[in-house]
Amino acid sequence: MTSTTDVLIIGAGIAGLTSAKHLEDQGFSVTLVDKGRGFGGRLSTRRIKGLHFDHGTQYFTAGGDAFKAEVARWKKQGWVRKWFESLTFSDERVDKGSHPRYVPKSTGMTSLPKELAGELKGDLHRGERVKSIAFENALWTATCDSGLTLSAKAVLITSPVPQTLDVFEASKLALSKPDKKTLSSIRYAPSLTVMLTLKKGVFSDLGEGMKFPNACDLNWVGNNTHKYKQNKDNVALTLQASAAFSTKHFDSEEGPILDALLNAITPYAPITREHIAEKQLHKWRYAFAETPVDKTFMTIVLPSLSGASLVLAGDAFGERAKIETSWQSGRDAADALAKQLSANV
Ligand SMILES: Cc1cc2nc3c(=O)[nH]c(=O)nc-3n(C[C@H](O)[C@H](O)[C@H](O)COP(=O)(O)OP(=O)(O)OC[C@H]3O[C@@H](n4cnc5c(N)ncnc54)[C@H](O)[C@@H]3O)c2cc1C
Repeated sequence: MTSTTDVLIIGAGIAGLTSAKHLEDQGFSVTLVDKGRGFGGRLSTRRIKGLHFDHGTQYFTAGGDAFKAEVARWKKQGWVRKWFESLTFSDERVDKGSHPRYVPKSTGMTSLPKELAGELKGDLHRGERVKSIAFENALWTATCDSGLTLSAKAVLITSPVPQTLDVFEASKLALSKPDKKTLSSIRYAPSLTVMLTLKKGVFSDLGEGMKFPNACDLNWVGNNTHKYKQNKDNVALTLQASAAFSTKHFDSEEGPILDALLNAITPYAPITREHIAEKQLHKWRYAFAETPVDKTFMTIVLPSLSGASLVLAGDAFGERAKIETSWQSGRDAADALAKQLSANV
């Protein structure tokens, strides 16, 4: 058992990291725990034979003033930079929503969460999956698969909602009927993501990448070589299948998935299996919240625990599943928790 803090945050993606910083800035102590080997969740990078592939978030945008200010802070710290402004569409549409698309300055999307975690003073745990939570004597305790237990006065959960519901079930926490209905209605689209290194000397003319129309098997092809100006001899591409294709073929083998995605890209970049030096497939079961809730966080009151409450945040809470949504959700949830903790003093 580690020391008790004010808030235990489960999930260290952008929502969890943002809440942790915002709570610490207001003087609260935080414990942050994530089941992943590193922090960042869907802000993720894989290294294959020396080349970096972002296989989750490809870039992010900033629409609201608060997130614009945060991105300006990250820019000032030297953590992020603008990658490009206008999307290239495969069907030659012109990007009417032209605005900066940001990426980390260091190679790989994971460098941003690493910087954000580095700012925190709290108790940080990686590679620890929370199995269950319990509330007793005004304290929450989380038990991890490893047996590690963490305790805090309040809990914020930022995992994808189906994973949160698994924790609730394992904890035998009875939700109120309306909360159960709301949370069960949140669905996520999966994403099949293929990472390809082309053989030395095989080039693609894709620039930063390309967005495909809705009816296509592909959603996006990102050029990691262009993004991070890494090794110019080999092109490193991320092929992200559309939500419809990913749903239909989620349980398929790598071979047919690769063939279908190569087929979709051929008219724009004639890449065949002979051109490929390395390939890996990643299956995201919970890639994008498809049916988000129309509020930036959710407070769950547990009638079975004498009205104790916990807070949920992440990309299922807000307008559309993206980095800015999770950031805003994490921040608003932190404010709500700060208010709750201050009222209980
Ligand atoms: C393929 C793909 C492409 C994308 N492209 C873009 C893009 O270009 N631009 C954009 O803005 N957004 C993009 N997104 C969406 C964006 O990545 C997400 O909206 C955002 O990262 C979600 O952040 P989060 O903190 O809410 O959740 P997550 O990043 O999922 O963080 C939740 C964390 O909870 C942890 N966790 C889960 N269960 C437990 C448990 N029981 N115990 C401990 N830890 C647990 C997980 O390990 C994870 O780290 C993309 C997503 C995917 C998958």
